[in-house]
Amino acid sequence: MRTHPLAAACLSLSALLLLANAARGETDKHPLDYQNQSAWKGVLDQAQSPIDIVTGHAQPALDNEPREIVLRHLDVSGTAEDNGHAVQFNTHATDATIRGRFFRMTQFHMHAPSEHTIDGRHFPLEGHFVFKAQDGRLAVIGVMYEEGAANRGIQEILDDLPTATAKPRTATLDVHSMLPGHLGYRHYLGSLTTPPLTQNVEWYVLKQPVSLSHEQLTVLRQHYKQNNRAIQPLHGRSVIEFGG
Ligand SMILES: [Zn+2]
Repeated sequence: MRTHPLAAACLSLSALLLLANAARGETDKHPLDYQNQSAWKGVLDQAQSPIDIVTGHAQPALDNEPREIVLRHLDVSGTAEDNGHAVQFNTHATDATIRGRFFRMTQFHMHAPSEHTIDGRHFPLEGHFVFKAQDGRLAVIGVMYEEGAANRGIQEILDDLPTATAKPRTATLDVHSMLPGHLGYRHYLGSLTTPPLTQNVEWYVLKQPVSLSHEQLTVLRQHYKQNNRAIQPLHGRSVIEFGG
């Protein structure tokens, strides 16, 4: 991958700041203030995320275009990190065909409690699997997690998070264990849920939840007790439903 010279400069500047902060014993990134979301800088328009998904209002997908999500290469290598507002795993190994178009995964991360609500109800955790197309279009697959059996993939991420003594390292991960058996979804057009809150993001919130253990949720909450953006108004947007 080629890096833009300016991006490289910014990267080295942030690396220097990180070193300076580390030397002062401070946190390396400015955490987002979820208690003061009205102060966030970014796009504030009509088509923001997350939303409350009212299942009774979702419209069935029409037959006149491809509808499936197909994921490939789910055994991935990458790095786990705490990015300042979420626990995240960076990998480019997975690719997807989403409604007939090719996307590549850039990272996935966790929000607790869930950002989207289903008929007004939060899940304890929501995973965002972020995909990018060659033309820059973003698609995010949202997965709801509920308490139950431990989740292998989430455990691998927690085990791989850098700590004061353990540095970041490339780890392998089975993304499959973090996804439900069926990729039926509810789809709408929204935005990133952290600044710059960029719009025109395709959301696919999967219908089937996946389990993680109470202990795993507790560890994630030790990183972020609450990192969900408030529900945004629908403003007449359609929610399209497909599959089981
Ligand atoms: Zn997210």
